[in-house]
Amino acid sequence: MESPANLLIVVDAGHGGWDNGAQFEGRLEKDDNLRLALAVERALRAQGVDVLMTRSTDVFVPLNDRARMANEADADLFISLHRNSFPEQTEGTKGVENFIYLTAPLETSGRAAQLVLVELNEVGVQRMIGVSRGNYAVLRRTNMPAMLLEMGFINNEEDNRLFDEKLEEYAQAIARGILAYFGINYRTPSQPLPSGEPVVENEIYDMQELLEQRYGFGLRPTGRFDEATKKAAVIALQIELNGAYDAQIPVDGILGPRTLNAIRPFRQGSKGGLVALLQVLLILNGYDPGEVDGNFGPKTSAALRFFQRDHFLTPDGIAGPKTFAALVGA
Ligand SMILES: [Zn+2]
Repeated sequence: MESPANLLIVVDAGHGGWDNGAQFEGRLEKDDNLRLALAVERALRAQGVDVLMTRSTDVFVPLNDRARMANEADADLFISLHRNSFPEQTEGTKGVENFIYLTAPLETSGRAAQLVLVELNEVGVQRMIGVSRGNYAVLRRTNMPAMLLEMGFINNEEDNRLFDEKLEEYAQAIARGILAYFGINYRTPSQPLPSGEPVVENEIYDMQELLEQRYGFGLRPTGRFDEATKKAAVIALQIELNGAYDAQIPVDGILGPRTLNAIRPFRQGSKGGLVALLQVLLILNGYDPGEVDGNFGPKTSAALRFFQRDHFLTPDGIAGPKTFAALVGA
């Protein structure tokens, strides 16, 4: 079985910039493709998979460049995302179709494309057209298993409704299908708790006890991530930074520039007290990083990316000053 950490997937949002792709009543294919591509990127990264985007904004990227990027990065799989269109409404102009190259082997590209469709079918589509062969440049010029997914017809109202309503589910289905191809189990991402809702009291209580045991400054466990707990977390951060980097920050529980500037960003693979504190903070915020063991593994990375995404930070899995500020509610 592969490890997600060893995989590089290229997610290619079709068209972009002056190239709108298909359009229907003001709806542009390039925008739909990018929305889905960004959601697929998030879904894959949340599983600890590395992703290369051929574009992350509304820019034009030549087809040759898209394929070259994937080849030069020695990617493991290439997926191009599109919306289909047809000049006139007929019975066939609806549903999902996944293309592989004319001569692509069925046991690689064909199987990967099929697995993605199986997962999309689970979510529900208007019609499953299936895997087809097509002479697309990005499929012809890429050296790895590759597919071009036409995610419904842009000139079919029901396909559009499904696309908008199920975007996140479709993105996760695509990620599941890709991981299945590599023999990796998809882990259900930890769901962030709605703000203001009662949090998992026991877990917060446990973290408050842990903070008190480890740093000992009289925090009284309440089962709620309250102001006293936030201040305690900042004190813990200051103690850890002083210990790790001899930062000599006054331990006052105030998250000022001196404390923030002392944070050296760290990521998956790191170990130690700061990692354990990050795990405690993720749990306090309602995310699931796994055991508080001071080992920054894929589960902690996935939880961190979810937290970052939900707080409008770059979901890069890197714990830096902005992330810590958000974690303590600053
Ligand atoms: Zn297209």
